[in-house]
Amino acid sequence: MKTLTVLGSTGSIGANTLDVIRRNRHLYEVYALVAGQNVEALARQVVEFHPKVAVLATSEGLARLSSKLSEAGFPKSLWPEMMWGDAARVQAATADPVDMVISAIVGVAGLEATYAAIETGKRVGLANKEVLVAGGELVMDAVGRHGAELLPIDSEHNGAHQCLRAGNREQVAKLVLTASGGPFRNTPREGLAHVTPTQALNHPTWRMGDRITVDSATLMNKGFEVIEACWLFGFSPDQVEVVIHPQSTVHALIEYSDGSVLAQICTTDMRMPIQYALTYPDRWEAPVPKINWAESRQWEFHPPDLDRFPLLQLAYECLETGGSATCTLNAADEVAVEAFLRGKIGFLAIYDVVRETLSRVPVRWPRTVGEILEIDRESRSQARELVAAGITRGAVTR
Ligand code: NDP
Repeated sequence: MKTLTVLGSTGSIGANTLDVIRRNRHLYEVYALVAGQNVEALARQVVEFHPKVAVLATSEGLARLSSKLSEAGFPKSLWPEMMWGDAARVQAATADPVDMVISAIVGVAGLEATYAAIETGKRVGLANKEVLVAGGELVMDAVGRHGAELLPIDSEHNGAHQCLRAGNREQVAKLVLTASGGPFRNTPREGLAHVTPTQALNHPTWRMGDRITVDSATLMNKGFEVIEACWLFGFSPDQVEVVIHPQSTVHALIEYSDGSVLAQICTTDMRMPIQYALTYPDRWEAPVPKINWAESRQWEFHPPDLDRFPLLQLAYECLETGGSATCTLNAADEVAVEAFLRGKIGFLAIYDVVRETLSRVPVRWPRTVGEILEIDRESRSQARELVAAGITRGAVTR
């Protein structure tokens, strides 16, 4: 029996993780469920999974969580210890009984607890890509020092992890990450100025949280994935290529030095990579739809348009710059995406806010999580100022 902490249990990855656990109750038990604000969902999960610990982002939700558990008639003898805040997340991720942590909080809010889990040598299933985007060097250094296992859940990196098992790492020429191209794959540049949050949230192939969905529409998400891949697998930026593949069925390709290319292929269901991380190195039957090879199908691959989606290029530039540039990239993007979703800035202004924030925040080489979080705060505050000052290149549309 393996004992798990799920960071971000109420989100899209968190719910999929709990579904995998639900189907394998004889193999996994939940030690802690860690959420942000969604008390209703957390209460339902507590009633179903009986964790020892339940954590919320702030103290306000704790009383509501108690009343939800009472309303549900959940016996007091089974109530979890209820906690809130940064220290509680770290405690939930590092507790002795925990064998594995699923890191699925969105944004840098998940960094501290994920880093702490790595420092205690836990196996970590990593969905929260911002952990490596903001703190890649520090995090990978800790992985090396503490012998922790970091298993990627992001589908492209999970695919690469699988393809890399087929050969020697030294004989790999490059990694190709696929991108669906998002809902605006065929939208002309002029049209991008007027797209609405509702359109941006309508991802053609995946159902995910709001931030990653908008990041997929700008291709910022793919830029983050390039950064994540470089840290996870030790690639240089020029060894990681992005191709648009609208069908989202081939997730990653590894080209070996002899020109042979291995692809990882699966339907779009995050329970596959989540289960892989849980069961690695074994594979079990998974509840995901299988590809019907008897049906004819077409898969397309073409290069990304960096003119319409310049945030992808910016990610490569930040990687080359190194240090805290990628931390600022992530922080500024998070602020800009939120501003876009609230109708404060237009779609194209997301890039303007991010690029301008990068030019204002000096690059540093952080050596602690605290320093990374400080740079993150400074970058957010710069980005918020830019939003407030009314960066208006992209028309604001609702
Ligand atoms: P969601 O927005 O659906 O969920 C985010 C989770 O983070 C929620 O449980 C939320 O809690 C929690 N959270 C947010 N802020 C805090 C906080 N301060 N403290 C504690 N918990 C917090 O996101 P996704 O599940 O889509 O994505 C999670 C991560 O996985 C992201 O980094 C994303 O890039 C990555 N990822 C997601 C994929 C997907 O298919 N969804 C694919 C690959 C990677 P609450 O809702 O209770 O507020």
